[in-house]
Amino acid sequence: MADTCHVCGEVITTPLCENCAAEALKEWALSRGMPHLIARINQSLVMFKDYPITDVRCVRCGGPVKVCTFCFTNEALGKIVSLHSHHTDMFSIMSDLET
Ligand SMILES: [Zn+2]
Ligand SMILES: [Zn+2]
Repeated sequence: MADTCHVCGEVITTPLCENCAAEALKEWALSRGMPHLIARINQSLVMFKDYPITDVRCVRCGGPVKVCTFCFTNEALGKIVSLHSHHTDMFSIMSDLET
């Protein structure tokens, strides 16, 4: 199976490539008045750069997806923003951005 996250092994249910996930997180960080998080988000992009891609395609840009949004978010923000359960926090971040 090549539709699972390379970090946690779960099936990727809300596919976002790391670039779109990073864009979303940066908008979110800025909207929350936390511009200092952007450097961390950029570091996470570098970290996942060499990961193999999955067969999943990003819902925003159609590009290849490597890890689930939870693992990306956890890597970028995990030690700063408390995350509660798998796959919920990116949803709340995304819905924050859409409202
Ligand atoms: Zn994952
Ligand atoms: Zn994308």
